[in-house]
Amino acid sequence: MPASWETLANDHILGIAPYEPGKPIEELERELAIKDAIKLASNENPLPPSERVQKAIAAALGQLNRYPDGGGFYLRDALARRHGLTPDDIVLGNGSNELIELLVRAFVRPGEEVVIPHPSFVVYPMIVQAVGGIRVVVTLKEHRLDLEAMARAITPMTKMVFIANPNNPTATIVTAAEVEEFMGRVPERVIVVFDEAYIEFAQGPDFPDTLAYLRQGRKVAILRTFSKAASLAGLRVGYAVAAADCVALLNRIRAPFNVNSLAQVAALAALEDDAHILECLRMNEAGRAFLYDEFTSLGLKYTPSRANFILVDVGRSAADVYNRLLREGVIVRPMTSFGMESALRVTVGTPEENRRLMKALRKVLPEVKGA
Ligand SMILES: *Cc1c(COP(=O)(O)O)cnc(C)c1O
Repeated sequence: MPASWETLANDHILGIAPYEPGKPIEELERELAIKDAIKLASNENPLPPSERVQKAIAAALGQLNRYPDGGGFYLRDALARRHGLTPDDIVLGNGSNELIELLVRAFVRPGEEVVIPHPSFVVYPMIVQAVGGIRVVVTLKEHRLDLEAMARAITPMTKMVFIANPNNPTATIVTAAEVEEFMGRVPERVIVVFDEAYIEFAQGPDFPDTLAYLRQGRKVAILRTFSKAASLAGLRVGYAVAAADCVALLNRIRAPFNVNSLAQVAALAALEDDAHILECLRMNEAGRAFLYDEFTSLGLKYTPSRANFILVDVGRSAADVYNRLLREGVIVRPMTSFGMESALRVTVGTPEENRRLMKALRKVLPEVKGA
């Protein structure tokens, strides 16, 4: 009998469960034969890219016969100026997802440990597993990263620590003071990756300035993305900020044209569009306040959010509530796979989408028996 594909596979990947993205709107509409489904499942920006960004994309269509600028010169230059760094400190990625992968592939050797919070972004453990690294999982405390426990989890075998700030799926932050204390306990040789995908929504005097650790020469990498506040999830563009020596290593293993031309021009235009970000932040804040009120009026507990999504405890099977919401044309994320049986993660939408969500939730909740 010929060998199966599984026996041929790299051993490390056999235990990995495939990433389950939020259900696409079109898929649900096909399944239910409906037209107006809404998706509040992937923490996307409910607003489309601004006119300015769309114009920049349209203007670049005529050059699509050419490969992109593999070095992302203009975008890295603009990012460097914005952060007071040099372009050598920045590497672009096909979403910040790719940068997580490049960091792990570049630095984590088989058998080395990576400290990962849980529940958090599922991509971290997947990629660590794929390279044969050891996942050292530290459970959150009251829905927040437990930096104290994460520091204690560091051993001589630890190569890297992931800090999602704000954390997904809880939307909580770790503060500047907590991170300062943590960095004081992390050995200089350990790489700390700060995943700041939602930083625009979280800004405040208590939010850590992680670039300061880079300037101090600490082994840190800071991940940002255009997928959330900048409304460009579909184009896949993010970046890592790190020491030039680190960036040079990541450049050795990334695909030559990992960020496409449209993504580069769109991100560049988005960077100059603070008005769009401000509008999104205002809408998000109003949406959160509306949803908090609504959840409270239904007697549901939620975790106060520093991002564009909310973790809400529906007090009964989240999987059942999720499935019933689907039938109402509303896609959210059940947290069942994270071991949170009664929690949903909902993305804050437009005012109309938020009202749709609450109308559907009010309808389906009484249909599911409480825990
Ligand atoms: C959405 C998200 C990202 C961004 O992924 P992209 O690949 O940039 O779209 C990164 N980290 C976390 C924790 C996220 O939730």
